[in-house]
Amino acid sequence: MANVAIFVPHNGCPNKCSFCDQRHITGFLSQPDENDVKNAIEIALSSLKEKSFESEIAFFGGSFTAIDRKYMLTLLESTKPYIHNFKGIRISTRPDCIDEDVLNILKSYKVTSIELGAQSMADSVLLANERGHNAESVKRASLLIKSKGFSLGLQMMTGLYKSNKELDIYTAGEFIGLNPDTVRIYPTVVLKNTTLAALFEKGEYTPPNVEDSVKLCAELIEMFEEAGIKVIRVGLHDSESLKSNMLSGGFHPAFRELCESQIYYKNIISELNTQNITEGKIIVYVPKGHLSKAIGQKGTNKNNLILSGFTPEFRENDTLALRQVLIKKG
Ligand code: SF4
Repeated sequence: MANVAIFVPHNGCPNKCSFCDQRHITGFLSQPDENDVKNAIEIALSSLKEKSFESEIAFFGGSFTAIDRKYMLTLLESTKPYIHNFKGIRISTRPDCIDEDVLNILKSYKVTSIELGAQSMADSVLLANERGHNAESVKRASLLIKSKGFSLGLQMMTGLYKSNKELDIYTAGEFIGLNPDTVRIYPTVVLKNTTLAALFEKGEYTPPNVEDSVKLCAELIEMFEEAGIKVIRVGLHDSESLKSNMLSGGFHPAFRELCESQIYYKNIISELNTQNITEGKIIVYVPKGHLSKAIGQKGTNKNNLILSGFTPEFRENDTLALRQVLIKKG
């Protein structure tokens, strides 16, 4: 369900992380005021109508609980006349900007979901990327958020400076241990005017490319889904601002779809191996609505099967669970 997204770019951040140029990630340069919030909500209400009850007002893009307290309260106050039309409010913030006092304030304004930009659970990676907090603060904030009855969201980045596949998988494992309700996964992209850009230009850091990022993120999606955790975003939002400021990295406008196709391909191969089918005509059944993901972007999965000696036909089957694949010899 579409949220009313209100961006508070780079506001409240006590530091500037190695990868962050928040203004260009969100594509928003100015700070919203009371009227901007009201306008955004009213426009959304007129199109959402009764569907608004399933939507949230979302303050994204900065460290909401670290912004000037008066400004934070102004933003929250401006939601008050409308909040009864929505499921609640979602905010994103830093793990070291969470304490009991601020959680009590958020509760009183009907904030229901809090997302923490954790990025990594390896202290060496957090330090190298100038995050200004450690893994322990992610744990502490997560426990506090859950104990107060908020929905917890955790955001991680893959391929950060000084990270690797093992450390990214370790981060996902630590996240699972914290039992968040939702997770977002962002492969690192190098943006102009950031510490990573300087490292990239000196040849000291190269972010994983799209192909490697897809392989890793597909693995992470499976880890989270197996643990019953909803992955609500994979990859950065496509925007002109992002594309014109990006120097390198694992960005693709349909990144999540690439990951899901990768998972389907893995499951198809595993099913073929289980049934000991090595060539020939096959019918691949996939869950309803997942045909294009199973066939792959530009038919990649289908073409790879053809190259391996199969003649595949893909069909939908509404009895199959998410990512489940059934194969019959044709
Ligand atoms: S805390 Fe978030 S918004 Fe602030 S500098 Fe770091 S990544 Fe950017």
